[in-house]
Amino acid sequence: MAIRKILHEGDPTLLKKSRRVKRFDDRLATLADDMIETMYDSDGVGLAAPQVGVLRRLFVMDVMDSEGEEEPVIFVNPEIIAEDGVQRGIEGCLSLPGLVGVVSRPLTVTIRAQDIDGEYFEETYTGLAARCVCHETDHLDGILYRRRSETVLCTREEYEEEVRRKAEIEAARQEEGDASDDDTVSELSADEECHDAMPEDEVDA
Ligand SMILES: [Zn+2]
Repeated sequence: MAIRKILHEGDPTLLKKSRRVKRFDDRLATLADDMIETMYDSDGVGLAAPQVGVLRRLFVMDVMDSEGEEEPVIFVNPEIIAEDGVQRGIEGCLSLPGLVGVVSRPLTVTIRAQDIDGEYFEETYTGLAARCVCHETDHLDGILYRRRSETVLCTREEYEEEVRRKAEIEAARQEEGDASDDDTVSELSADEECHDAMPEDEVDA
């Protein structure tokens, strides 16, 4: 296994569509192993082949199981065959280091892919894993999450500062609302705040 260089935004390779994998050979297995090692080395939860300069439809993911054990999964020629619901949260990318943005993704996705031996499998993911699957599949189509972000990309610190600022404004508004005894406004504000502050949803992938 070897750590490969991760391409950063600005490299034209990241904007190209990847081709299907046809040969399930040792070379592919080595690439997948290297990608897993590179993902762990960068503390990412996912990594797509074009991010290491290989324009093939392949990505790796590890969002950890419930016990926090490492559990890498390899997806070759993946296709999202069903999706449901919506989640709005912050996302990052190893190819855009240090930045985050708010992206809406399906809450649940079902993916069909081949494993490293070419065997087909189907799996349904929810929450962070579903977000990661969508992010990585986008990479295979040359799409960076900047294109999907609902906010201007900024650093994590800037984002947290913005969330704090909004919460303060919201709190001030709520006080006014309480003064005029308007319960509806208070409820709505609390809900919105919750959607904007979901640090556990961060994905560097
Ligand atoms: Zn990414």
